[in-house]
Amino acid sequence: MDKLYDIIIIGEGISGMTAGIYARRAGAEVLILEKGAVGGQAALTYEIGNYPGFKNISGIELVTTIQQQVLALGVEIRYAKVLEIQDGYIKTVKTKDTEYHCKAIILCLGASPKNLGLPNEDKLLGRGISYCAVCDGAFYRGKTVAVIGGGNAAAEDALYLSHLASKVHLIYRSGSMKAQEFLFEQILDAEKSGKIELHSNCEVVHIDGTSKVEKITMLNKMSGENTVLDVDGIFIAVGRFADTGWLQGLVETDKNGYIVVDERKRTNVAGIYAGGDCTNTKLRQLVTASADGAIAATNAYEYAKTIKID
Ligand SMILES: Cc1cc2nc3c(=O)[nH]c(=O)nc-3n(C[C@H](O)[C@H](O)[C@H](O)COP(=O)(O)OP(=O)(O)OC[C@H]3O[C@@H](n4cnc5c(N)ncnc54)[C@H](O)[C@@H]3O)c2cc1C
Repeated sequence: MDKLYDIIIIGEGISGMTAGIYARRAGAEVLILEKGAVGGQAALTYEIGNYPGFKNISGIELVTTIQQQVLALGVEIRYAKVLEIQDGYIKTVKTKDTEYHCKAIILCLGASPKNLGLPNEDKLLGRGISYCAVCDGAFYRGKTVAVIGGGNAAAEDALYLSHLASKVHLIYRSGSMKAQEFLFEQILDAEKSGKIELHSNCEVVHIDGTSKVEKITMLNKMSGENTVLDVDGIFIAVGRFADTGWLQGLVETDKNGYIVVDERKRTNVAGIYAGGDCTNTKLRQLVTASADGAIAATNAYEYAKTIKID
């Protein structure tokens, strides 16, 4: 067998990185496997104002600082998507090209954006449709965009884009936004200045465009009227889901696909732990993801120490 890690952490978001810090500082041999880039969702966040210790910090600055801490401690990080886990006294974690072995696993898989389920959505992804304002906003400088969604993420995206685009249409299904008050106040200020136009009770029912997004049709659910808007880009922020389908049959998930954990972040499988946004938690935030990572790591390493190899 190749190297036997005490703990393999899947996901290099804030939960996974915190788990890495706690596990390594306790003395564990740790590997983090990440399918994308450092930081997960936090890396996509324009400005973070609720992470203790920082009045305001950009997501990318926060996650790269944490990553430096992780690397300085000697945690290994490799970039590959985990496709399968084989449970056993020694556990096997499989990527496309490699198999890794460990005593315990921590799942810090986070969450991914939900789509609208409209016919053209896949075809026009990256051609005017985006799920990340911070990543793609700069392409829409001086242009007209729509943000779809009524929660905090949609409000943040609309505010971010209002500094770049000439006009932001903010479209949401309910009568009022569900975003936190302080964000909504900023939205109202931007509305007064004409940068953001609010469309409540509206649902996007069609996206038009051949090689790129050109128009959207939105249905006003109160009046029953359809309105066509010319837009250059669409930013979809209608929620997230945990991408845990590949774990079905291994760990227990709830009806929404979130991994069920107890207060020690144990799943139903001995030696497999989970933390952060992929779990059945009430609050999905940076501090909770980080705390989950710490709890999972502490308990996972306790478990790993019980696994004895001759
Ligand atoms: C736009 C936006 C703004 C936000 N603003 C704030 C804010 O201001 N304050 C706040 O507290 N929270 C904010 N949040 C929420 C916060 O970012 C998340 O709660 C937190 O980042 C979750 O961390 P996590 O480690 O659980 O998951 P994630 O950050 O989602 O990280 C999970 C990682 O796992 C990787 N992964 C998944 N599956 C696999 C696999 N099979 N193999 C390998 N790697 C895998 C993913 O690529 C990802 O990098 C915001 C979220 C968004 C989307």
